[in-house]
Amino acid sequence: MSALHQKRIADWLVTTPENQEITVSGWVRTKRGNKDIAFIALSDGSTINNIQIVADLSKFEEELLRKIQTGCSLRVTGNLVASQGAGQAVDLVASQITVLGEADAETFPLQKKKHTLEFLREIAHLRPRTNTFGAILRIRHALSFAIHNYFNERHFYNIHAPIITGSDAEGAGEMFRVTTLDASNPPRKEDGTVDSSQDFFGKDANLTVSGQLESELAAMALSRVYTFGPTFRAENSNTTRHLAEFWMIEPEMAFFELEDNMDLAEDFLKYLIRYAMEHCADDLAFLEKRLIEEESQMKKEDRNPMALLEKLKFVSEQPFERLTYTEAIQILERSGKKFEFQVKWGVDLQSEHERYLVEKHFKKPVILTNYPKDIKAFYMKQDEDGKTVRAMDVLFPGIGEIIGGSQREEDYEKLSRRIDEMKIHRESLWWYLETRQYGTVPHSGFGLGFERLILFVTGMGNIRDVIPFPRAPKNLEF
Ligand code: ATP
Ligand code: MN
Repeated sequence: MSALHQKRIADWLVTTPENQEITVSGWVRTKRGNKDIAFIALSDGSTINNIQIVADLSKFEEELLRKIQTGCSLRVTGNLVASQGAGQAVDLVASQITVLGEADAETFPLQKKKHTLEFLREIAHLRPRTNTFGAILRIRHALSFAIHNYFNERHFYNIHAPIITGSDAEGAGEMFRVTTLDASNPPRKEDGTVDSSQDFFGKDANLTVSGQLESELAAMALSRVYTFGPTFRAENSNTTRHLAEFWMIEPEMAFFELEDNMDLAEDFLKYLIRYAMEHCADDLAFLEKRLIEEESQMKKEDRNPMALLEKLKFVSEQPFERLTYTEAIQILERSGKKFEFQVKWGVDLQSEHERYLVEKHFKKPVILTNYPKDIKAFYMKQDEDGKTVRAMDVLFPGIGEIIGGSQREEDYEKLSRRIDEMKIHRESLWWYLETRQYGTVPHSGFGLGFERLILFVTGMGNIRDVIPFPRAPKNLEF
């Protein structure tokens, strides 16, 4: 049978065993047994659960049996029977075993003992073979699919924003330069600076920090659009919540005001969390158990107040708390808590402030709105008071900011003045400004960091552990 139509281990594990002959392929997780029989746990990554292969030693060559070690790959044909042992419903009684690729269990980096996540980062090429990363990769896939599904069902169009950008005014962080010039000997202008007119694009080019500006252009024609693409920020912040390369989902909607934008963000996040609970139950149960084990080594106050699944259910059912930045500052000032960074109106909120509001004060997700204009981007719609803008950040327990968004300034004059006030190079934004000159409409949008969502759903603690190959300062091995 073509491999295309072969059932996976996940399928066989839920099939009624009737002594039928089947074939499975995968990697050996463990082998144990006695002088008569071997039990081999085989995984093909289709589920967190392994299929148990039972091999009667008298039926196989010693040479072959010796080669079956942790890490090697096998194809096994045999009969599917009800398991004699506890812990699994079915066994595969092997009649034919082929070793596809050997592995020396002595040197195989993934040993039976538990490895630290730090160590696994150093062997990122093999960590998908661990239970934890298998679960994370399956959940990433499920949520990526769910995101497209959510928008498709609501008639949003998926727009592919460019990855290389010529505008340096997006204002969302430090950018990575893209160039084909010879770094050791670039062409120079008379004043000694690099002559980028001789570069590939004839001007400076960067990797995008956000697809927003381009998706705004599409929303001015298709009404509801979204992008889901890689995003690059050269921020040298070695935190557990920042990557240099991450994936962002950015819906942009014509005719949506700030309230509508908040409604969408809340409904979207709840849908995604429920989707994961429904479609990734086994993986989440495994990750919950893992987390409980890990937390049993920690001080009580450092542990999560809720187990993983309880937390997901709670967040998917509770209405998020909505309040203004100004109200949040008052709460923080009255809290009597000593923060590392001082709280006063006008400052950008630090993660410690955000987490206080979410985890200690409201004990649920919070949407903060109407931030001071000086700490937010130029394109956000200005409030009547002249001090704040229609921004919204969604803050999550254990994460802090998971979504940042706003209603956009649709008024040409106001937007134009703000660009000048902030000394942004307006010539490079002429095309963006034209959307406000030709048929402008109220519109809104936001950005959800995909890896922050995965952090929340999996309960993992470090963003480098929820993306296959993390990109971070001084980190580019794989
Ligand atoms: P933060 O203050 O946490 O750095 P930000 O204000 O720079 O975030 P935005 O520019 O609003 O974030 O980006 C939208 C979303 O993208 C954020 O809410 C977050 O979920 C995610 N995000 C931003 N920067 C990173 C990063 N370096 N790595 C991973 N996700 C990120
Ligand atoms: Mn940032």
